[in-house]
Amino acid sequence: MQAEIIALGDELTSGQRLDTNSQWLSQQLAACGVRVLFHTTAGDDLTAGCEVFRRAIERSDVIISTGGLGPTADDLTRQCIAMACGVDLVQDAQMLAHIRRLFARRGRQMPERNAVQAMFPRGSRPIPNPHGTAPGIDMIAPRVGHAGVRIFALPGVPAEMREMWDASVRPALVATSGPACHLIRHRAIHCYGAGESAIEAMLPGLIQRGHVPTVGITASQATITLRITAEAADLETCCAAMQPTADLIYRCLGNLVFGEDEDTLQDVVIRLLAQRGQTLATVEGGSGGTLAQWLSAADPDGRVYRGGWVLRDPVLNANSVADQALARGDDVPDSRPAGRAAVHIDERPATESPSPAARRVRALASGCRASFQTDYALTIGPFPAHIETDSGSLPVHMALAGPDAVWDRSTLYVGHPEILLPRTVKEALNFLRLTLVSSPRPGL
Ligand code: AMP
Ligand code: MG
Repeated sequence: MQAEIIALGDELTSGQRLDTNSQWLSQQLAACGVRVLFHTTAGDDLTAGCEVFRRAIERSDVIISTGGLGPTADDLTRQCIAMACGVDLVQDAQMLAHIRRLFARRGRQMPERNAVQAMFPRGSRPIPNPHGTAPGIDMIAPRVGHAGVRIFALPGVPAEMREMWDASVRPALVATSGPACHLIRHRAIHCYGAGESAIEAMLPGLIQRGHVPTVGITASQATITLRITAEAADLETCCAAMQPTADLIYRCLGNLVFGEDEDTLQDVVIRLLAQRGQTLATVEGGSGGTLAQWLSAADPDGRVYRGGWVLRDPVLNANSVADQALARGDDVPDSRPAGRAAVHIDERPATESPSPAARRVRALASGCRASFQTDYALTIGPFPAHIETDSGSLPVHMALAGPDAVWDRSTLYVGHPEILLPRTVKEALNFLRLTLVSSPRPGL
């Protein structure tokens, strides 16, 4: 069964309001095993609205529309459906009484204009709207060679639309689609540390149309997500169908994978530290508290993440705090624990001594670790004042002070300005994650 979602309203086509109803309905339909092939949006216009319903009736089995069921002259959905189905509008006496009652309950008389909300395409059934004056429409549109295309028209107000979906539309869909109604389940595997195309190249043949289960790839602020989708009659079969593909992804991508579904890098880092009974503090020179904010949200009771320093006027302050830490001798020897070979961290070669900028972030990390008395302290250095120079991109330095070593690395400050901040913070979290997964757990 294939569905089409139609969103109606000038506020949508003019860009004043985002069409969140279609997104929500798509998720609901997927959960019922119904595939959505089209999202169509039209303004408050009789010809345009009628045209989108006509097209949808030709190409889809189920149509869910939202919007355009209000009482005003620009609410045209009922007329559009009637025209597309070649029927007229008739009044529903029960619905008219219901709308009058709603007004009476609010101590008001129903304006005559609202009577239009009790008009329905001939042959349709009203869908009750317990909290609003706009009932929905449930209609079967004829199509040659087809048992009939089911149309559910719902109001645009998201809360009313969702309530009517739950109470009326979803049960009706599940009842009519019978054995064809199956489950669609997704599994999202998140990666950090390589680009979209590099990751695709590491998974030959997986991200291709026709692969079962399907695997899609998306990038969001440098996190690459592989989304496996399986369809089956029940949850167990869905999960079993996805498992070999998930195993293959883990095998091919190794430590690039950091989590699944709702996991973020900060969740994973907090979880790893909690498992080890260890704590963390941070210093930020350029990221304005974003690292502290993400970690605080991931660890609300503060058992792992103890706090951090956010240094403004980054170059000056970060450097002066770092210089003080250096003067106190907070920097610790550039030692590295054994067993790091399997982990890919783009860090400074062991043979090179740290640059002055690297020494500063190392000193900040060590000073912060000592001050907060945590097991680890993670530092993001000042951001370059200019993103690129004639001689290339500038680096942001990072350091991690741990129980028996201080590590540093740098990342190039390149990319779209909007993603530079989240990407740099993710880079620091990933640096910590990779260090943790490659260092033995304390006491082992
Ligand atoms: P309507 O049923 O067309 O009178 O819409 C009532 C209100 O619901 C609009 O003013 C919008 O604020 C909201 N709305 C309508 N369509 C959508 C949509 N597709 N997504 C989110 N909100 C919507
Ligand atoms: Mg509207």
